Amino acid sequence: MQTNILNNELNELHLSAVRENYLKLQAEIQLWQESQAPEVVAGVQLAQTSPYFTLDSLPEDSIVELWQRLNQVAGEPQEAAVLRILLHKFKDGETLEDANAARLQLALAGIAQLICQTSINTPSEENQSFGTCPVCGEKHFMTVLARPLGKRYQKCLVCSYQRPVGASGCASCGSEDAKKQTYLKSEKYPGIEIGVCSDCGSYFKQVDLRELNTQDLVWEDIRTMPLNYAAEQWLAGQKGWN
Ligand SMILES: [Zn+2]
Ligand SMILES: [Zn+2]
Repeated sequence: MQTNILNNELNELHLSAVRENYLKLQAEIQLWQESQAPEVVAGVQLAQTSPYFTLDSLPEDSIVELWQRLNQVAGEPQEAAVLRILLHKFKDGETLEDANAARLQLALAGIAQLICQTSINTPSEENQSFGTCPVCGEKHFMTVLARPLGKRYQKCLVCSYQRPVGASGCASCGSEDAKKQTYLKSEKYPGIEIGVCSDCGSYFKQVDLRELNTQDLVWEDIRTMPLNYAAEQWLAGQKGWN
């Protein structure tokens, strides 16, 4: 019993340190976005059809510049030339050191958000298809149930594009087979559940904004990481059943 209490306290301490670091990095991203918006947006060529841009096509100078600023803020400065080499390695599929890779992902998302917010129209209320983001082509998303009636939207956690989607169905593959979908919840995270689909073998988080009032889904995704493990265990236990 005592061990559990101690572990929980350590987890809370760890999470508050993660949050402090996350907020510092997000503040830096916002400063960079405000100062660089016209330059970045002017240099971007959107594709004629969806996806309108991809992370691979983002301007390399901007990526390196923002990544360098994030490393500086995190107290781990690196030369731009070194980051450029690391970026090429990353694009070639090499694994970077965890913290540095996480800051690169934040930099890529910071640029993608800027382009999405300034160059992409807000969609109509007509439901769009599930799956990858029609703007940036990434498949890292959450669904939200909006106030007041719980209308469902899919929000890209990379470029932040939010589009209306159908009320039911797996948000990854669109499967409507209710028997193949399970929603896992934890008392620790009111208003958040994780949808697991044995048709496509993937999972996604869903936030009910009527229960949990939040603006920052990226942080919700980070702080509810234990739900990912639960979903992975659930899927591992289902193997051979679908
Ligand atoms: Zn996107
Ligand atoms: Zn599915």
